[in-house]
Amino acid sequence: MHSGSSTAPREPVVDTDAAVSLTRDLVRLRTVSAAGSEEVERPAAELVSRLFTAFGWEHEVSEVAPGRPNVVAVVEGGGGPGPTLMFEGHTDVVTEGDPGDWSIDPFGGEIRDGRLWGRGAADMKSGLAAMIHAVRALQLAGPFPGRIVLGVLADEEGMMLGAKAFAASPLAAEVDAVIVCEPEGYEVCTSARGGIRIRLALTGVMAHGAMPQEARSPLVAGARIVEALAGVQGWAQNRFGTHPHAGKVTVTPTVLRAGDPDQLNVIPAHGLVGVDVRTVPGTDHGELTGRIRRAAEVAAGTEGVGVELTVVDDRPAVEVPENHPVVTALVAAHRREHGTPPPFGAVPGTTDGTILTRDAGLPTVVYGPGGKWIAHQKDEYVEVREIGEYARVYAAAARHFLTGGGAV
Ligand SMILES: [Zn+2]
Repeated sequence: MHSGSSTAPREPVVDTDAAVSLTRDLVRLRTVSAAGSEEVERPAAELVSRLFTAFGWEHEVSEVAPGRPNVVAVVEGGGGPGPTLMFEGHTDVVTEGDPGDWSIDPFGGEIRDGRLWGRGAADMKSGLAAMIHAVRALQLAGPFPGRIVLGVLADEEGMMLGAKAFAASPLAAEVDAVIVCEPEGYEVCTSARGGIRIRLALTGVMAHGAMPQEARSPLVAGARIVEALAGVQGWAQNRFGTHPHAGKVTVTPTVLRAGDPDQLNVIPAHGLVGVDVRTVPGTDHGELTGRIRRAAEVAAGTEGVGVELTVVDDRPAVEVPENHPVVTALVAAHRREHGTPPPFGAVPGTTDGTILTRDAGLPTVVYGPGGKWIAHQKDEYVEVREIGEYARVYAAAARHFLTGGGAV
């Protein structure tokens, strides 16, 4: 608290029923991120925008692609100067797959057995609802220093266009720290693994299956590359070590394609190996990619096959120190809600936070309702009580961060 204040700030009271209803309303909107769809996040963005208007929050709706809007609100504390804290979440979801595999309607938002079910219940419409109602509760409790940015962004499950657009906006330069509300099962994730997606295009020589001596087979070369990648993984795990939360680098072949299933007597000329690389903080992506290129060239070279490497996507591993004020604020707030400190963890993949750190240099920590492993699975759910718990922790963490640690 600032000196001169004579009354303690009122306790933020989260409207948990409203947060649960908002989660359910969002789950009922089928905002599936899929190639070629005309409209993905728009209905969710419109719902959130109407709510922000009702709360009197200044906000902007801007499309990052047709039918794919970001909604960004700035909530001034009215309590004097202070830092800018951002809460971030995404409105798109991955496909439900075959609805017949689900035991409930994937877009019904049904509440049963203390759980709210449906695609996006955990990843991450409950996180969005919790962060919005946390900020509302904080605001209704009275003035606070600084301000809060709410980033309700598009396309996290795809190319992260929403996070890229926000990172490039002038507002990003004014943000001091970000809490990403992705489901992490009560862990405070101070790190997230990075990723490199690589395509290795193989070019050999086509020949008759009866005359293999005439061929240079991309199929055999691909098999040799797959074998060689295991060696690169071993090298990388040694070179870049074991991170306490993010573990070790993995180099995983995910695609091996060559030949025509209807042409069993033809050795093909072309083939493809796809590689999914996951990295830990401290990994030199350039060095690792160079290793993969050389290993692939040597392995394919033994078959006389050429290799062309393309990096399709490159996202760094990111990390925020455990003593960063945004982390200590979350830890204090979690302890206040649950009585025990939270475990630290790592996000196994990348989040919008990765982009906000990579492109705008923002410190990001990931913490949100829902199990870490339930995302993208069938019968996705969130425990209803978690929505209120996380909203209360967010409100307390925001107050702690914005007041410089004065109040939890
Ligand atoms: Zn997510």
